[in-house]
Order: sequence, then C-alpha cells, then structure tokens
Amino acid sequence: MKTIGLLGGMSWESTTSYYQAINQGIKAQLGGLHSAQIRMHSLDFAEIAALQQAGDWPKMTRILTAAALSVQDAGADGLLICTNTMHKIAEDIADELAIPLLHIADATGAQLVDDGIKKVGLLGTRFTMEQPFYADRIKDTFAVEVITPSEADRADVHRIIYDELCVGKIKSCSRDTYLKIIDRLVEQGAEAVILGCTEIALLVDKSHTDVALYDTTQLHANAAVKFALQDELGHN
Ligand code: GLU
Repeated sequence: MKTIGLLGGMSWESTTSYYQAINQGIKAQLGGLHSAQIRMHSLDFAEIAALQQAGDWPKMTRILTAAALSVQDAGADGLLICTNTMHKIAEDIADELAIPLLHIADATGAQLVDDGIKKVGLLGTRFTMEQPFYADRIKDTFAVEVITPSEADRADVHRIIYDELCVGKIKSCSRDTYLKIIDRLVEQGAEAVILGCTEIALLVDKSHTDVALYDTTQLHANAAVKFALQDELGHN
C-alpha cells in the first residue's frame, strides 16, 4: 500500500472527514484491521484565512510548499491538499514536489464525466466560485459547463463556510439557505451540484435533496484510496 500525504487543517473540521473517508475506503477494499498509511501536515487555518483575505497568495504558496515538502520527506508517495480553495496554488506546489499531487477538481471532474453530467453548479468559497482556477479545470479538462450562484447567493455560501462550517457550527437555517441556492442552480439548468468546499458535506448531503451532489471531500478521498492501492488492486 502506498502512503498518502495530506495537507490538512483548512479547516480541521473537514480534515477529520478526509481521515475517516480514506480509512473507510482502505478498510472497504482490504478488510480486517487494515487502515491507511498517512503522513499529514495540519496547518493553523487562522493564519491561512487571514492571508486569503489579504490576497497574499505568494506567502501561502511558500507556507504550503514547505508543508508539502515536509510530508514528502516524511515518506508520502502522493499528496492531497484537503481544500478546494487552496488548489488555486496547486500547480505551484506540485512543481516543487517529486511525488504526484492528486488534484481535487480532477477527482470531481472524472466522476462527472462517468455520470454523463454536462452542466453543473458550483458551490464553494468566493475564491473557488469566482476565480477561474477551479471552474476552468472542470470545463477545459472534462468538458463540463460550470455555473455559479448569483452575487447575493455567493456571499451567503462564502459567509456560512467561514463563519459557521469551519468553526464547527451546523445550523438548519443555513442548510435551508444552501438548499434554496441549490434549487436555483437547478432552475438555471444545472444537472448536479459540486460541493466545492470540503466542509459543505457537513451541512448538506443526499438525505436533504433529490439533486445529485458531488461531495469533493469524498471524491478526493476515493482518489487517494485508489492511488494507495494501485499495486494491490491493479488500478491505474
Ligand atoms: N475547506 C474549504 C474549501 O474546500 C474552505 C477553506 C479554505 O479556504 O481552504 O475550499
């Protein structure tokens, strides 16, 4: 089994989901007492969130690259950045690594293609919804059209992520807000919705809506399990 490297803590609320999903995936495949081999560097999200607000992406690139190298040096065979937003700098980090970076949008895009989805709604932080790094990768690599909520809805989605989900607050009124926004994306033609922030599945899941949801945390974790078990199971 290969060793999975994680850059976590962004926020730790969703890193716990990764830890659980990856271990569940390994157990499902290998059974018994098997569990994942993981190296993790967990960052202080207060520092990262402040740098996001300040727009200091060069500094975040330096911090995350150093963290990624420490995970590589600790013996990881591949790296996951456990947040959609920080994939804004994924290519810069990947360039410094000798091990592969498993991109969260690739894990998501591949599943969209497998399911025949042609037009998808995207929920996430403002960075993920408004900047091209995520939607363009889905469009260009997987030929899936990406639509985002209105300005007012994007503000709500972003606020709930930082003020609530990243600090462990799960509120039913915020779930209702998200479900209405998901319905509006469907009215605009979305066949499915990407939960493009690793905390959103803590608030909304398939028990709350009939709309097909693409949980990026689960899909990214699945990609990690597949990578880790390449040799055992003959996956590519
Ligand atoms: N975990 C979130 C994401 O997937 C938001 C936190 C962050 O800005 O990294 O985008």
